Amino acid sequence: MRLVRTALTIAGSDSGGGAGIEADLKTFTAFGVHGLVAITSVTAQNTQTVTAIHDIPPEVVSEQIRVVAEDIGVDAAKTGMLSNAEIIKAVAKTVKNYDFPLVVDPVMIAKSGAPLLREDAVDALIKYILPLATLVTPNRFEAEKLTGMEIRNVNDAKLAAKKIAEETGAKAVIVKGGHLEGKEAIDVLYHNGAYKLYRAPKVDGCTHGTGCSFSAAITANLAKGLSLEDAVSVAKEFITLGISTGHKIGHGHCPVNQSA
Ligand code: PLP
Repeated sequence: MRLVRTALTIAGSDSGGGAGIEADLKTFTAFGVHGLVAITSVTAQNTQTVTAIHDIPPEVVSEQIRVVAEDIGVDAAKTGMLSNAEIIKAVAKTVKNYDFPLVVDPVMIAKSGAPLLREDAVDALIKYILPLATLVTPNRFEAEKLTGMEIRNVNDAKLAAKKIAEETGAKAVIVKGGHLEGKEAIDVLYHNGAYKLYRAPKVDGCTHGTGCSFSAAITANLAKGLSLEDAVSVAKEFITLGISTGHKIGHGHCPVNQSA
């Protein structure tokens, strides 16, 4: 019997160590979960900019998932940067062979402004990946792109979360509140036909990699057997603390602290 829980991240690498695979692994470690990886894309990146993106061949992405799932076992998984439609289709086809919970962070554009998902791949994300999701974790802008709605406040976020769940078949959706109006960051979860709100003050600090680390924290806690609602609650506290305790490294957006 395996004593340690495992979590798999299917995502891109950030050479600056703030977001992507690197953030996910640090977050898994913070929660005492063994991290597994399927790298989709290698980015040359620092706190200011992304200067190069090298996508991994789709069959190599699939193979990374298959070998770890079949030998080690995956208790929960997440997706981050999927980069292009071919990788999206390969990931969807492969994860369908297993029954682990899947958290989907619909990564589209980095805070530095760099596109991390090709414009023509958004439809593929909606069609192939979102129906497989246990939870989708869009920020305001990603939720706007997924729904075509304008989202400014909690009421808009509620409508968007329900729309994404109903239109894609995703089991749950949380629209994150960091970019909504107001002094609080209120995340809106839609699950089993009901809403739950997660509140925290909007704190100043380091925000590079917050989306990755938040979805990784949820994934780690699902791997440990927490309910979805409790996993989100723990992740919300983790990320709020991480923003205010991030190290002020680099000259751009400093990375959230994943060991707070
Ligand atoms: N780089 C990679 C490889 C990512 O997966 C992500 C995740 O969203 C980012 C960068 C974006 O980081 P942020 O928008 O938090 O700066």
